[in-house]
Amino acid sequence: MREIQTISFIGIGLINSSLVRDLKGRSFYKSSIAYSRTNKTRKILKKLKIVDKVVDNYESAVNQADLIVIGVPVAAFSNVIKKISPHLKKDAIVTDVGSVKKSLIRIAEKVLPDKIDFIPGHPIAGTEKSGPQSGFKGLFKNGYCILTPSSKIKKESLRVVIKMWNLVGMKVDTMEADYHDMVLAITSHIPHIIAYSIVGTVSNLEKSIKKEVIKYAASGFKDFTRIAASDPVMWRDILLLNKKSILNMLSIFKKDLAKLEQAIKEEDSKFLYNLFSKTRLIRKRINT
Ligand code: NAP
Repeated sequence: MREIQTISFIGIGLINSSLVRDLKGRSFYKSSIAYSRTNKTRKILKKLKIVDKVVDNYESAVNQADLIVIGVPVAAFSNVIKKISPHLKKDAIVTDVGSVKKSLIRIAEKVLPDKIDFIPGHPIAGTEKSGPQSGFKGLFKNGYCILTPSSKIKKESLRVVIKMWNLVGMKVDTMEADYHDMVLAITSHIPHIIAYSIVGTVSNLEKSIKKEVIKYAASGFKDFTRIAASDPVMWRDILLLNKKSILNMLSIFKKDLAKLEQAIKEEDSKFLYNLFSKTRLIRKRINT
């Protein structure tokens, strides 16, 4: 297995800071560097002491690094990859944690030198919080990380990235980027759209009704507010960069919602009972 002397984190918020917290002390790398564009985050990182070195420029962030993990909002990926590309070591491995894959791969293929192995990744774990102060040990434990590498990359590079995610407790699956984007559209992106939409509807209601809704919020609405508190920049970018898969899935969802609406109108109790029984089984399967 290839030895990683230096690992570099470009953008170190919730995800990358949780990753380095879990990797630290596990002999996966000898030294770690984090790049942050803001003084505020660099100060936080120095206090947290989760990486060996904190830098404010792309060149010193990557010119010694064997493995680079990009953890910025997906719309910032293009700029980051262009900025780091001229300074990469010849045999550097580049990976990322972005929630959409196909559009980022298109950018990386255009920008990165041929010899650089890019291994797109997406750890399926997270919270609605942001920034390195929100990261914590154990975020990835027992979760899945999806990798969507091209067949051209060296197997050795893939093994390094798989080892990194295994070390922090993740099982790793590899799949086509298009398939990843479609699956995540329905399992993650559309649930966020629904949460943003329902919480938005409540906030648009007349002031008095809004007050009551918030006062009597049962756990159902509360769950939506947690999801709808997710980072606005991150989710704006995800929805725009996974537009095609999201629109496809949204049209299927709208058809199913219309069927549910019709069943309520027609007081079709059998339809409602059958649907809710089926969905209850899904919950049981997720929890086992
Ligand atoms: P985060 O906590 O907001 O951290 C993002 C980091 O990126 C910040 O430290 C910020 O640095 C930096 N950044 C923002 N805009 C930048 C720009 N234009 N150029 C350079 N750096 C920039 O976000 P996160 O939750 O860790 O998410 C990071 C990535 O992981 C995203 O692509 C997201 O899709 C993916 N992801 C998130 C989750 C989740 O639940 N949160 C789960 C799986 C995957 P400064 O502080 O210096 O501005």
